[in-house]
Amino acid sequence: MFIDGKWIDREDFEVINPYTLEVIKKIPALSREEVKEAIDTAEKYKEVMKNLSISKRYNILMNIAKQIKERKEELAKILAIDAGKPIKQARVEVERSIGTFKLAAFYAKEFRDEAIPSDDKLIFTKREPVGIVGAITPFNFPLNLSAHKIASAIATGNVVIHHPSSKAPLACIELAKIIERALKKYKVPLGVYNLLTGAGEVVGDEMVVNEKVNMISFTGSLKVGEMIAKKAGFKKITLELGGVNPNIVLKDANLEKAVNSLIKGSFIYAGQVCISVGMILVDESIADRFIEMFVNKAKELNVGNPLDERTDVGPLISVEHAEWVEGIVEKAIDEGGKLLLGGKRDKAIFYPTILEVDRDNILCKTETFAPVIPIIRANEEEMIDIANSTEYGLHSAVFTNDINKALKFAENLEFGGVIINDSSLFRQDNMPFGGVKKSGLGREGIKYAMEEMSSIKTVIISK
Ligand code: NAD
Repeated sequence: MFIDGKWIDREDFEVINPYTLEVIKKIPALSREEVKEAIDTAEKYKEVMKNLSISKRYNILMNIAKQIKERKEELAKILAIDAGKPIKQARVEVERSIGTFKLAAFYAKEFRDEAIPSDDKLIFTKREPVGIVGAITPFNFPLNLSAHKIASAIATGNVVIHHPSSKAPLACIELAKIIERALKKYKVPLGVYNLLTGAGEVVGDEMVVNEKVNMISFTGSLKVGEMIAKKAGFKKITLELGGVNPNIVLKDANLEKAVNSLIKGSFIYAGQVCISVGMILVDESIADRFIEMFVNKAKELNVGNPLDERTDVGPLISVEHAEWVEGIVEKAIDEGGKLLLGGKRDKAIFYPTILEVDRDNILCKTETFAPVIPIIRANEEEMIDIANSTEYGLHSAVFTNDINKALKFAENLEFGGVIINDSSLFRQDNMPFGGVKKSGLGREGIKYAMEEMSSIKTVIISK
């Protein structure tokens, strides 16, 4: 952990490689008292960040991007070992995180206030930092999802307290070292950024209930998100939660394009992405052909060691999670689901799995966070109803060559994002990103996160 510019090294808990199941490192787990002390210390730096010039914010963010670029391959390997992410996908995450910091540097200079028309006053707005942003991040994109929160917070002049997931914290520790160097270079007190490792129920919980933390920016599961919403009181919160993202294939879709895109959307990082394909709804009239093409393409995926360049699908984050997924697949089959591919587990590896199910199947209501894809045959009239029937509303996708149909679906799907002719997995780091219903509150995507991490002060001058 990194608090007020000091590194504290203790061996409190083990970080496990999910593929080999070996212990990679032992790291500190903070007690509640230590978290309180860290927050008390961080409070001292609120004024420093608030008064940090725009040029310095820009320079720090650009320097972080530069350092990540210099350590690209090393960071990708850490993601492969620690989070079990196939190396070629890990490189994409590192590359994206460079762009995320650069984007925030750009918006540090381009974040504009407004002038409000008035008959006899001069009215303008001023964006002020909220103070201390508590950033709580999940295991699946340790670098880029942390980047989204940290970069937006620095760009708006906030102090950051970052709690990374204990399931894959190592890339975040390296990121903290990079941030330390950038702060030193521009002579900014190191206490403006703090990394608190340990158990979520202790570290994360204290950040949520502690009144000195002004905002919680959380990405993670619905279960923890709901708890945060109940406990945060008057604190500002943004919640980026899970989803069972429906992907719809209409009868006029370009099938080859749909299959290629859905294979990627379903199996990248073994389905451990919040916007992974959650279910596929395919028009009855093309279902046989689509299923045959989709299953055949899934058979070509290479499953195995994340460090192997050929690997497409690596392990799940833990053996416990893989065992849980195994139980859900068994239940899905008990409920009448027809297994078309996979269903097998080997330690934390869960093989690409495809089932044909009906709309009431457990897989259509549960975020498995695994390479398990339920396919439903449906007619066009019932698709919107099925797609909207889960408690979530993160991303959805529609494959069609008919622009009028695309627009009709885009209007009626209750989701934070609707993607036409690509899978629900699509995300660009500068676009507004977030969910409706139980997929969350608020938006990320640098500029949008910066709006969340600042409050508007209105200045009114009488003439
Ligand atoms: P998780 O909810 O188990 O953990 C997320 C973070 O919360 C971790 O840092 C953890 O230590 C912390 N935490 C745990 N208990 C806490 C508590 N009581 N109070 C405060 N913090 C606590 O999630 P995970 O398993 O790491 O990640 C997977 C989940 O994240 C999936 O549901 C996925 O859909 C979601 N996710 C959402 C997005 C998005 O942008 N919408 C992106 C990635 C992942």
